[in-house]
Amino acid sequence: MKIAVIGTGYVGLVVGACFAETGNAVTCVDKDAAKIRSLNRGRIPIYEPGLEELVRRNSAEKRLTFTTGLPDAVKRADVVFIAVGTPTGEDGSADLRHVLAVAKEIGQALNGYKVIVDKSTVPAGTAERVREVIRKETQEPFSVVSNPEFLKQGAAVEDFLKPDRVVIGADDERAAGIMTDLYRPFTRTGAPIMVMDCISAELCKYAANAMLATRISFMNEIANVCERFGGDADKVRQAIGSDKRIGPAFLFPGIGYGGSCFPKDVKAIVKFSADQKYRFRILEAVESVNDTQKLRLLDKLDKQLGKNLKGKTIAVWGLAFKPRTDDMREAPAIPIIEGIRARGGKVRAFDPEARKSGESIFGKKIYYAKNAYDALKGADALLVVTEWNEFREPDFTKMKRTMKSPLILDGRNIFNPRQMRDLGFTYSSIGRP
Ligand code: NAD
Repeated sequence: MKIAVIGTGYVGLVVGACFAETGNAVTCVDKDAAKIRSLNRGRIPIYEPGLEELVRRNSAEKRLTFTTGLPDAVKRADVVFIAVGTPTGEDGSADLRHVLAVAKEIGQALNGYKVIVDKSTVPAGTAERVREVIRKETQEPFSVVSNPEFLKQGAAVEDFLKPDRVVIGADDERAAGIMTDLYRPFTRTGAPIMVMDCISAELCKYAANAMLATRISFMNEIANVCERFGGDADKVRQAIGSDKRIGPAFLFPGIGYGGSCFPKDVKAIVKFSADQKYRFRILEAVESVNDTQKLRLLDKLDKQLGKNLKGKTIAVWGLAFKPRTDDMREAPAIPIIEGIRARGGKVRAFDPEARKSGESIFGKKIYYAKNAYDALKGADALLVVTEWNEFREPDFTKMKRTMKSPLILDGRNIFNPRQMRDLGFTYSSIGRP
């Protein structure tokens, strides 16, 4: 099939590359000319495992091309994906400005029947709005489909190529058939393609992210209670995770969720429910728990070093909101580093992939270390903020030698508390004695 993907970000680029990988002719469109130039030179603007190779291979085979020219890409395509951002608007709602602007441009370019697919995460009822916008621009026939994306950054290619399920919201059979054909190569191992109405499909994505965010905030509250009683949240996690009704995933206590999806999607579902006079109380709490959880390491730092950090140096391991990505959107590292600086402390930060993202947020206000040990030079404390695998088995003797004082505040529970005590560190983690 001929496919156009509008919006070549974390989702659009992965979607485009993966559809090209199964033999489709894909044009990725973005209004960011610098991004398109760089992609045309074979440079990938983001870090995502496996993506670079996929993009290179399919570009070389001429199945994957990049352009800023939306109308031509749409005219050539049978299926057009909208994969632009839906950031949080001022009132907490999903800002549909980009989606609706793209819908209008697609409508103006239509030259025959096409399936227009909402891939972006959009509130219930958006497919209908997209349909109305396009209808105003054209007499040509078209279908609008909602096809939410469940990939996670850091494993996006793998997730897209081997999805747990594919959700297709389609209000007509022709579009449902085309979408089912398109996804068949990814579901040969038996993953279901679930066809439903557009509204339900739109809600699936929010329900999934809201459920995962709820598990995280729930477990963080359990960890906070464990700390007060001297219990071990890790033991509690393992015990409840072995219950088949609960399952082990997404139960790790830490310093809260970040990223471009959970925070914005939780806010959006609260807002669009409120717009229909429904107060989503659980999710209000999930968000508020997460906001305070992001600051837990600062509370612990205050306890250890006091609220005045003048003359103190704090090492930070990890900037990205999670490992295996360079993305710092809503990352806990942001309020943590701001908090250290507001207390007068100096920051030496290291992240294997997110240095550039860090520079775009903090500029020259912090030091970007060359490696994990460089971050520790003269440090009065180390805060572990992102659980990159390479932080898990460090040379503890070298760490102790490099730091000014052996204080570790671990926001991701990557070290063993007993081992840390035996090695002579002052060590505190989340929800463990
Ligand atoms: P992103 O910010 O990385 O990418 C969006 C891209 O769209 C940008 O490159 C931007 O320049 C481009 N764009 C904006 N307006 C445009 C226009 N008028 N014409 C052409 N290009 C335009 O965003 P993302 O992380 O890829 O997310 C996209 C959508 O997918 C969001 O709705 C998000 O919630 C959803 N989603 C994201 C993830 C994720 O892990 N990032 C996972 C599932 C779903």
